Amino acid sequence: MSTQSKIEWTEQTWNPVTGCDKITAGCKHCYAEAMANRLKSMRTPGYENGFKLTLQPSRLEQPLKRKKPTKYFVNSMSDLFHEDVPFSFIDKVFNTIEATPQHVYQILTKRAARMASYFQERSAPTNAWIGVTVENRKQGLPRIDELRKIDAQIRFLSVEPLLEELGDIDLSGIHWVIVGGESGPKSREMKPEWAEGVQESCEQQNVAFFFKQWGGWGADGKKRSKKENGRLLKGQTWDAMPIEFRVY
Ligand code: SF4
Repeated sequence: MSTQSKIEWTEQTWNPVTGCDKITAGCKHCYAEAMANRLKSMRTPGYENGFKLTLQPSRLEQPLKRKKPTKYFVNSMSDLFHEDVPFSFIDKVFNTIEATPQHVYQILTKRAARMASYFQERSAPTNAWIGVTVENRKQGLPRIDELRKIDAQIRFLSVEPLLEELGDIDLSGIHWVIVGGESGPKSREMKPEWAEGVQESCEQQNVAFFFKQWGGWGADGKKRSKKENGRLLKGQTWDAMPIEFRVY
């Protein structure tokens, strides 16, 4: 089933694929891996394979049953554009998205080149927000260029976990940016000036900015719980969304 989400920028998660493989610095402390292994040990249906990539065709129609307009984060437990997910299966995911215009779907990948290749001959449904992770310069920034190639109503960046200074980012064609630090016991620190730099780039280029969390390290460089570190950047919360697609 789809599940209510604790992620600040979405409402429900929908996982028609589970499991993944680590490919980049942002994957180091993958939340989905730890969660999948826990669910496997609890014998939760759908997690018999733990974190091994698994198509879940029985879940494809789940959002059809929900009438209430909802923001869905697609594949919080995987990456829809993993090389072992056939384009024919991704088509089925988008068939459901198209059949439920009352919902908004947030689709985020680290496999930006494969996503761009999928969309070469397709356009994204208007209720699909298409995004890439940008955790650092080397692996993250080139994904923005791939994202810009895609014909979508909303293109967004998840700058989380932010692992270094990104410098002046070109945000042309980008509608929304989320920034967050890493959480969990082995979290890596996010320096305030890195997050502030992204916020300032958004302000200069008129892009909606959402500050999700500090994570395991506070703005003062001290390690404590994610909750204690909170969500304030420059003394305020930043909760902007791409307004025209707001669903409540
Ligand atoms: S791409 Fe996402 S789900 Fe896959 S290993 Fe990396 S962080 Fe985890």
